[in-house]
Amino acid sequence: MNHTTPAATVGVVGGGQLGRMMGEAAGPLGVELVVSDPTPDCPAAPVVRDQIVGAFDDDDAIRALAERADVLTFEIELADPDGMERVGEETGTPIHPDPGTLRTIQDKLAQNRALAAGGLPVPTFRPIEDPADLREAGEELGWPVMLKARRGGYDGRGNRPVEGPGDAAEALESIGGAAMAEEFVDFERELAVMGVVGDGETRAYPVTETIHEAEILRESVAPARVDDDVRSRAREVAFEVLGLLEGRGVYGIELFETGAGEILVNEIAPRPHNSGHWTIEGTDCSQFEQHVRAVLGWPLGRTDARAPTVTANVLGDVDSAQPAELAGTEAILGSPEASLHWYGKREVRPLRKMGHVTLSAADGDRGALLSRARDVVGSVTFSDR
Ligand code: ADP
Repeated sequence: MNHTTPAATVGVVGGGQLGRMMGEAAGPLGVELVVSDPTPDCPAAPVVRDQIVGAFDDDDAIRALAERADVLTFEIELADPDGMERVGEETGTPIHPDPGTLRTIQDKLAQNRALAAGGLPVPTFRPIEDPADLREAGEELGWPVMLKARRGGYDGRGNRPVEGPGDAAEALESIGGAAMAEEFVDFERELAVMGVVGDGETRAYPVTETIHEAEILRESVAPARVDDDVRSRAREVAFEVLGLLEGRGVYGIELFETGAGEILVNEIAPRPHNSGHWTIEGTDCSQFEQHVRAVLGWPLGRTDARAPTVTANVLGDVDSAQPAELAGTEAILGSPEASLHWYGKREVRPLRKMGHVTLSAADGDRGALLSRARDVVGSVTFSDR
């Protein structure tokens, strides 16, 4: 392997916080990023070589990226697999992960079907076409059932627990479009495994505990506070999932741990994921550096944890959109164990992910770290109320 300057250029569809943290990680390797994003001056813009302003499904923008890049990747699930495939064929630029993997993951029903066909444990699910299907699913799987839009959901938007047959018609209407239903999993914990598929090697970071509120990820605790059986089962399932996916890159595998200690796969993110942000301070090679290495086909980095590490998201605590101004950050900057990550979004919106805080401590008790993380995040606010 020889290094030149730039060592390589990676084209990234999407320039949000994931692209920004990818750019931060690529710099020391001498790798340059070019991103495409519809928002001028997107979060990644300050840390990448260039931004092409264009929609995620704009072939011209994808082509402009591909022409400048050694490899094309994406940091958002709204990237267009068909467009990337067309441009990949035209330009010969390799694309990782494979757009076919993204296509499957974009449809929650297709994703569950692919996982089930691969022998992986998933919540019992049913395709839903009309209210009668939903009522039938509720009878079979038990109420409540979790109704999910097949496409376009994120941070729980597009999910709706349905309490009984009387709510079926209204719930389906509120979801709009194609849907599926899942048994409502009474989970003990949510876990995530960040895995990375490289050129002939596959690795995974320690199992992470993810804490959601109103279906939005709030905090991650790594390594997860679970017993050894659950940890090894979660890793085993994650490696099986990674074995099913086409193309190199980092993947987030979201899991449920049931009361009986069973592991079910909730969903896969074909990209770095919020539950892996702790790897920036908590490991020698973050998920972002790992993704850059993987898509380029370079040797992967280490995935073991340096120390117990917790992250807490800074979400928009406002009622409506307004210019982003976070008050009280001296509490984070003044804490010797805390690191602040600010995503550079110009506008704060209700529950929008604006940044995160990581606390890492070699002698750290994870419960104590988590409560300190909650305290520091609780001490900052966008609201002037
Ligand atoms: P998104 O794609 O919006 O992230 P997910 O399908 O991962 O949505 O769901 C978001 C959250 O909703 C999960 O992290 C979990 O807390 C809850 N959830 C999802 N599916 C189920 C289910 N079948 N049973 C119970 N809770 C669920």
